[in-house]
Amino acid sequence: MVLELVVGFLKTGAPVVTLSDGLTSVSAGMISRIPLLFMRGCELTAYMFVWDRYRLLELPWDSAWTWWIAFLGVDFCYYWVHRLAHEVSFIWAAHQVHHSSEYYNLTTALRQSLTQQFTSWIFYLPMALFAPPTVFAVHIQLNLLYQFWIHTELIKNLGPLEWVFNTPTHHKVHHGRNSYCIDKNYGGILIIWDRLFGTFAAEKDKVVFGLVSPINTFEILYVQLHYYLYLGRRSTTFKTISDKCLTFINGPSWKPGKPRLGDHLDNPKLTGQEVPHDPSWSLPLQIYVIIHFLLALGTYQDVFDNKMTLSQFNMLGMTGYVLLTLTSMGFLIDQRPRAAVLEMLRCVLMVTMQRYGYMKPLLPTLAVTTQAFVSLSLLYWALRSFSQMFSIRKKTD
Ligand SMILES: [Zn+2]
Ligand SMILES: [Zn+2]
Repeated sequence: MVLELVVGFLKTGAPVVTLSDGLTSVSAGMISRIPLLFMRGCELTAYMFVWDRYRLLELPWDSAWTWWIAFLGVDFCYYWVHRLAHEVSFIWAAHQVHHSSEYYNLTTALRQSLTQQFTSWIFYLPMALFAPPTVFAVHIQLNLLYQFWIHTELIKNLGPLEWVFNTPTHHKVHHGRNSYCIDKNYGGILIIWDRLFGTFAAEKDKVVFGLVSPINTFEILYVQLHYYLYLGRRSTTFKTISDKCLTFINGPSWKPGKPRLGDHLDNPKLTGQEVPHDPSWSLPLQIYVIIHFLLALGTYQDVFDNKMTLSQFNMLGMTGYVLLTLTSMGFLIDQRPRAAVLEMLRCVLMVTMQRYGYMKPLLPTLAVTTQAFVSLSLLYWALRSFSQMFSIRKKTD
């Protein structure tokens, strides 16, 4: 990501990632891994259950054929996981997180959903009838890792590789909200599935990234969960029970009387003048948010490093604190009126946690009191500029 930032700056003269969007994406990535602290991954657990009880044949794990078959099998299943994540609204409610950035860079790859894993595991189960879990476990990770590097605008056309592989140009189209981009290019590693099943689209007009209706917020739990609430509200606007149910099962653009996936022409039209939502915020506030984000990242890493020795109570407390911090950072970036109160409460909690040893201070040589002093003066400094900014904004309004 740092390399992309440097190369992007040299090539275009502007940063390819903004602080508000980049932090929100990394925060979503952090949140998406939290369930792994408390339970094993759904995909592997369900896979092993089926393999242990119902396997029809046992491909030898040490044959190269098994590995090639599993590679194709995982990528084929991923295509369908991903396609249904776009075509079935209640799964889209999870997957829309990944599409909620209006930028397209390597941080966007990390913008992952907290809830998607609870539905995706079903689609890999047919493989458990023949492919050993060890081979599956490797390929599901490789498939995910492959998809990191394709989230960049800096890599252009890759020649003949574009015929077979999912590349930055193909996946860029997948992230677009232009009507030719909607519901296209679902592939993971290979693009051949899209070419086979008629969902392939090559890049044409300039791609505008993000959701059809941008959410214009960096509040992290809202990013993760807003679509579930929206679906719930939307279903109440329909009269018949079947329409209410179809809201959750049909595509996100569906309306009564329309085909299953709705009509993409009903979506808001693009003018070509779209600019990503990027609030202006003062430098002190930016520095403040970066420092406290890094502190929360330290705590997050601590929980993962020590999950075998920490009690459930401690783990819940520390993850709750990380969630609170990321939420508060989102409030600050959004410059909401309640941001100051929430942040003040969070700082008190942080100092208490440091006092009782649940959280390492940023500089271990600093005593807790110094740390508290530094934190609170930084907060004061940041809020002063925050309130100034607010009054300027009020005047100009
Ligand atoms: Zn997608
Ligand atoms: Zn993507």
